[in-house]
This record gives sequence, structure tokens and C-alpha cells, in this order.
Amino acid sequence: MFSRSVKIFTLYGFDIKLDPSWVLIATLIVWSLATQLFPQVRPDLDPRTYYGMAIGAMLAFFASLVLHELAHSLVARRFGVEIKGITLFIFGGIAELGGEPKTAGEEFWIAVAGPAMSFALWLGFGFLALISPTSNALTDVLSYLSTVNLILALFNLVPAFPLDGGRILRAYLWNRSGNLLEATRKAAQAGTAFAYMLMGLGVLSLFQGREIAGLWQVFIGFFLLTVARTTYQHQVMKSAFQNKTVAAMMTRDVVTVDPDQSLAALVNQVMLRHRTSFVPVVEDGVLLGYIDGGVLAKIDRENWPTSQVGDVFYELNEDNTVSQDLSAEALMQRMTETGQRKFLVADEHHLLGVITLSDFLGYLAILQELNTSGPTFKTTAPT
Ligand SMILES: [Zn+2]
Repeated sequence: MFSRSVKIFTLYGFDIKLDPSWVLIATLIVWSLATQLFPQVRPDLDPRTYYGMAIGAMLAFFASLVLHELAHSLVARRFGVEIKGITLFIFGGIAELGGEPKTAGEEFWIAVAGPAMSFALWLGFGFLALISPTSNALTDVLSYLSTVNLILALFNLVPAFPLDGGRILRAYLWNRSGNLLEATRKAAQAGTAFAYMLMGLGVLSLFQGREIAGLWQVFIGFFLLTVARTTYQHQVMKSAFQNKTVAAMMTRDVVTVDPDQSLAALVNQVMLRHRTSFVPVVEDGVLLGYIDGGVLAKIDRENWPTSQVGDVFYELNEDNTVSQDLSAEALMQRMTETGQRKFLVADEHHLLGVITLSDFLGYLAILQELNTSGPTFKTTAPT
């Protein structure tokens, strides 16, 4: 999600990273604090002081965000959930979970830790502002930090997935029904409704002449909407494929090609006739590898009749082959990580079938059709 982010330091073993988009929000915060908020609450200081206060406040605000995410991450690590790192980006901070919480209880504690930290920071900064002997520029910065941490805690507790409150809602529903998918669907629905509401408010602000605030709400709404949708879809896939292996979904009836066939014959007699561009290469029952449309595209069409499959095919190796016992989930992960969409299914050099992304999606579509009685899948999909 944040491929361009830069690691800045490590905290408790977690990589703290900055996404380039963070620069925009940091600049915006400094600018609005130095030119608007601080001159309003304490007039008659010189502009350099306002900028000093604003930069200090911005840095402490981002430290607060890191602490919020750190709280999530430490609890997650306690439960054995892998954390890929903490990234600061345009909409704040995010702790990227490498896995999912295993129970509703774990999800609840991981979700609640962040807002709890923000509440603690609200109290902490508020207390410091209160005990300072004289009211000065520093107390203004402390009061500001106290307030933003309170807002951060409250905003994150809105029960709209993927916000922390939405995760708490999902944990509650999951605990009540025992059905993670159904719980995700409802929490994501609440998230979608909240996202549309934010976008609506944003558009309203635009018409009222508050362009920056308005655009902001629209963007955050859109971001939440996207995450809510993709998380739910991901969960649908995961539930549908639960306990399924490659064997259940692969195409068994595969047309193969002999290595001494010409490329022209391959195209005309195999690919076009059987409408497939991924063809295993087999000689006397021994699987050698595969050939696909990508290889052909690199070879001049006039050379097709004289070139042989055996000269250009991809040889069998562990990157393009899977076992039929591989779980659907592991395959899905492999497809996402490598970008490879098509695999040979083999036992040593014996071809059992092929599995492609479209096999996956086709399987999913059939399950969906069979399950028309309910609005969504049951946790255990029909076999
Ligand atoms: Zn959080």
C-alpha cells in the first residue's frame, strides 16, 4: 500500500516509515497553525515565533500518532499478530498488520489500545498545560496537542470500519455471532455509511467556501470507503476458500502441447481452438514446462511456422508450479505477492491440471450463485 514510504527509525522493533504524501499534510498543519490558530489565541507575537510553535506542535502531533499506532502494534505483537511497520501518511498513521487477529477478543484489545493511548495523551498534555506556572506560547502548544489527541481518540472511536471503533464493532458482532464474515459485512456497511456522510459534509463545506476542510473530508471519506470495501471483499474470498485446496478449483481437463510442434500449430490448433493462452508442454507424459501468449508476443509472427515450442517454452520450476494440496489461501497470497496469475499443478513431472486467477474467480462466482438465499456467504461455503 505504501511502496514509496521511507523508513526513518525503529521503535520497539517496529519500522517507523514516512510516506511522501505525509509532507503535504505536515506542511498544511504548520501553515494553518502558524498563520491562523496561534495568532488567534495569542496575538502580538512575531511570525517567526508562530512558525516555531507550529513546527513543534506538528512534530509532537505526529509523535502522538506514532504512539497511537505503537499501542495497537504492541498489543498485536503480544497476541502473535505480525506487524509490518507503522507508516505516517496523508491521513495520519497506520499500523500495517501482516496477519489477522485470531479471535474477537484479540481484535477488540488491539483496536481499543490506540484510542486508549490518545486519551492518555489528551490527559497528559492537558495536565502539563494546566500545571505550567505562566500562560505562554508553550501552554498554547500543549493545549493544542491535548485537544487534537482528544479529537483523534473520539474520531477513531466512531463505529465505522476501518476506524478503530469499527473494529471494536466488528469484534462485538463477531463475538456475538461467531461469524467473522457477517461481522465484517455489517461493520463495513457502517463504515461505508460514515464515509458517504463525511463526503456529503465535505461537499457542503465546499459550497460554504471552506475549500480545504471540504476537500479533506471528501478525501478521507473516499479513503475509508475504499478500505471498507476491499477488506470486506478480501474476507469474502477468504471465507469462500476456507479449507479449500488447489485440487478443488483447478482445471483438470487441460490441452497440452508437444515440444516439437511449431508455434503456428500451437496458435491455430491449441490456443485459438481451445481459447487458452496458457499451455503446458508435455512429452510422452512427462511435464516439461509451459508456454503462453507472452512468449509468442516476443517472437515475430513470420517465424511462427519455423520455430518450435521446445525452443522457447518456460521450463518447469518451483515458481510456476504448485502442489494440488496447497491451500487456496496460500495460493491467493502467492498470486498477490508475485503477481503471477497462472500455475501448473503437478506431482513431480506428472501434470494434474492448471490453476489460474480466473479459475479462482469462476469458483467464487459459482459459490455466490448457489448461495442466493442469503445476502452473503456462510462461513462454511457449500462444497
Ligand atoms: Zn487506531
